[in-house]
Amino acid sequence: MKIAILSRGAQLYSTQSLIQAGLKRGYDMHIVDHTRCSLILDEERSRILYDGYRLDPFDAVIPRIGASVTSVGASVISQFENMGVFVASTAEALLQARDKLRCLHRLAQHGMAIPKTVFVAPGQNLNAAVSGLGGLPVVVKLLAGTHGVGVILAETFRTVEATVEAFQRLNERVLLQEFIRESKGKDVRVLVVGGEVVAAMERQARPGEFRSNLHRGGSARRVSLTPEEEAQAIQVASLMGLGIAGVDFLRSRRGLLTMEVNASPGLEGIEAVTGLDVAGHILDYTARGAKAQR
Ligand code: ADP
Repeated sequence: MKIAILSRGAQLYSTQSLIQAGLKRGYDMHIVDHTRCSLILDEERSRILYDGYRLDPFDAVIPRIGASVTSVGASVISQFENMGVFVASTAEALLQARDKLRCLHRLAQHGMAIPKTVFVAPGQNLNAAVSGLGGLPVVVKLLAGTHGVGVILAETFRTVEATVEAFQRLNERVLLQEFIRESKGKDVRVLVVGGEVVAAMERQARPGEFRSNLHRGGSARRVSLTPEEEAQAIQVASLMGLGIAGVDFLRSRRGLLTMEVNASPGLEGIEAVTGLDVAGHILDYTARGAKAQR
């Protein structure tokens, strides 16, 4: 079984964890940097050149695509799909997950609980948007933000206006979201792999902060989910078409609300906090998929 990890950082924890899990299972493991791939499109035989040389065939590819190179990464995944290689997450699913609005659209369309959200186009009436969310405070979010950057809690209408205006001036697309106060700076990250929940942790924001991202100094602990919560996480991953998904929930008075879905969830935090071999589950799922595709 010859498997490639699409990753720009051979030394990154997640990449290394996947490589080690694959080697342990006797697989032939490779790291391919998607930004060094040239794609040759041909109706009969699509190929990939890597630093100018033809890339050997793989049985499966596990994409680990950073947010700054989503579009390049998605093209390379598409090319592998065209070549008949099993991909652990498709290009289409990656693109959908990376756009918070598309992601929330899809989930809402299928009746999945999400925080009330308004997409504000430039020049729109912000008063109406804020009232539609049930009033202040509201969370202002960049559509393409990651690691909690561009997620702002606006307590006053002036802050909403100033923040939205500043982002829109920079040509950034913005969402307004109801603030889920009762989540008290906590969220739940659930790793779904191949239609199964393999790990879950609760993240808590540091004092004085509402964003629980570990990158923002949050702390985390292992949690167990009820069967209903597990089913919800599995359904979210499936609706997003993701074989590997990090589903982020907020606990609210009306149950778990899906906040976002990560197509390349980091493994360092969740493996350290839960002590579980998430990379091993990813490799097993990938190998099953590759065998089925053959
Ligand atoms: P990113 O993709 O940049 O991590 P998120 O949308 O996940 O952005 O938001 C970052 C953090 O902010 C979340 O993990 C959560 O703790 C907090 N947060 C986000 N949206 C809300 C909300 N509507 N209500 C309460 N807390 C929120």
